[in-house]
Amino acid sequence: MKVSIPREIIEKIMRDYGVDEAAATKAHLNAQERAEESYDQFMDQAFGRTRRAKGQAAGSFDITVHTPRQIKEHLDKFVIGQEEYKRRVAIAAAYHFAMLRHLHLNPGQSKVRRFRKKNTITAGPSGSGKTYCVEVLGDLMEVPTLIVDATDYTEAGYVGKSADDMIRELIDLAPGTSRKEQAAFIARHGGIIFIDEIDKKAKDGRTIGHDISREGFQRAVLKLIERKLVPIDNPMSPASQIQEALDRQRGVEPDPMAGMISTEKILFILGGSFERPQDNLETIVKKRLAQRGQRVDEDGGFVIRGFTPDDPRLSEKDKYRNYFAEAGAEDYIRFGLIPELVGRSPIRTFVNLLSKNDLVRIMTDTEDSIVDQYLLEFSIFGVDLRFTPEAIDYVAETAENQKTGARALVSVWEGILTGFQFELPGSGFTRLDVTRNLCERPRDALMALLEKSPFVHFTEGFRREYGLELVLTDEAQAYVEEFARSAGIQVSEALDQLLQGATALNYMSLSSPFEVTREMLEDRRYFDRLFTEWHQRREMENQAGAKGE
Ligand code: ADP
Repeated sequence: MKVSIPREIIEKIMRDYGVDEAAATKAHLNAQERAEESYDQFMDQAFGRTRRAKGQAAGSFDITVHTPRQIKEHLDKFVIGQEEYKRRVAIAAAYHFAMLRHLHLNPGQSKVRRFRKKNTITAGPSGSGKTYCVEVLGDLMEVPTLIVDATDYTEAGYVGKSADDMIRELIDLAPGTSRKEQAAFIARHGGIIFIDEIDKKAKDGRTIGHDISREGFQRAVLKLIERKLVPIDNPMSPASQIQEALDRQRGVEPDPMAGMISTEKILFILGGSFERPQDNLETIVKKRLAQRGQRVDEDGGFVIRGFTPDDPRLSEKDKYRNYFAEAGAEDYIRFGLIPELVGRSPIRTFVNLLSKNDLVRIMTDTEDSIVDQYLLEFSIFGVDLRFTPEAIDYVAETAENQKTGARALVSVWEGILTGFQFELPGSGFTRLDVTRNLCERPRDALMALLEKSPFVHFTEGFRREYGLELVLTDEAQAYVEEFARSAGIQVSEALDQLLQGATALNYMSLSSPFEVTREMLEDRRYFDRLFTEWHQRREMENQAGAKGE
């Protein structure tokens, strides 16, 4: 008779007791015949030990294995677009940890002796999800995941941190009650290290000294990627030095392997925008393709098989061709990565520049989106936010123009909402409709909502800042409104611009209130002149005073 046992059950036993599949299956079949309450007891007896808590079990492998598809489906919930990148990362992570578990549970039984890791290199514009995707991956897999910037590290840490410090930082992220336990977790389960801005460590052949140190860093990373024993504690730290001195005093022979961890189970993902003023990755790829019979025009623009970029016969896809997608090992090497590092990173992938549409989807179609965060933030203070699609569209457009990818979304929203974030909590407002008009003119919209004139708001702010009362005449106010209309800006912005020079009044110990007339505003240099005259007068008085003494 063939019995089918759900796979999860067997995997759980293997994890809980740190045994192989055959033993787990046999014990399960035997235990199944028992009454339910004694199942656990029977299993404990069968293996001669009790089940251990996650992360504790000495011999267990505590990372759940997911299929590439499961990982990709999870990434899809958070990361918009970047299909190729998500697939590649999902494959790398799924196979990496599945293989580690397999080797762990079947020690010495595998034909595969040397484990070739699926280290990955990814190129593409900043702010388009390279790092974010790895963060989401780390959350799903529940493996220690370290995200670092290559520019924060040097080869041997002469200035700043050394490449080896990355491994110690990864250990910091592992579960465990002591450093030793944390290191043991990484030694068994591995982890993920994402090194961003690897392109900033490429040789460019122009700056010799820099080139040597950049190449040195790449070599240091290469060693980590391959297999290196790294001290769990920084050998330069005071604690390590004291320990070493004590050992020497006591005549303890230092054990070179003690306190070391191997990097062999860590999956590395290298990322970068591969941009620079000259010879960026895109131009390198274009030039290579051009040598294969495809032309490059004078501006370095790429012409696809005799078509110019605005040729109507070109498909949309070709117009927006992403050359990062076609970057091969040779292109990365020409860019300035060392061949060995490229060779040890067999998966090469890319991300696309995010379009306005992508930015809209990032705001509306993702879990954990920025719009959700604002809804929550305002709701905590009792304000119900409603975003219109036109508002979302406006923000996507504005962010796209900033050319910093999805990062711009947060700064654009903060710019719009800042006044509301300050004024609405505790003010009795329970609802805010975020419309396109509000996004275009947030300060005027806030004033309208608070039923406050922008003039009152400005003069109140000025009094708080400088202790001086400004009074704008009716003609002055009318002028500000005209100015705002003709310049297409908010009244509050017009006030800022026209009265910028008025801050000088603060230095002039004037008597309050100070009347601002239309003529003063029409004359853009009025306040500057006023200040210069006042300053000269004071200098003269000082000199006269000095002579009089
Ligand atoms: P980089 O490509 O420079 O590594 P990041 O991944 O750090 O860019 O992106 C910055 C932020 O922008 C992320 O934290 C995330 O909130 C958002 N973001 C970027 N790209 C995407 C995307 N494709 N889908 C969803 N959010 C994104």
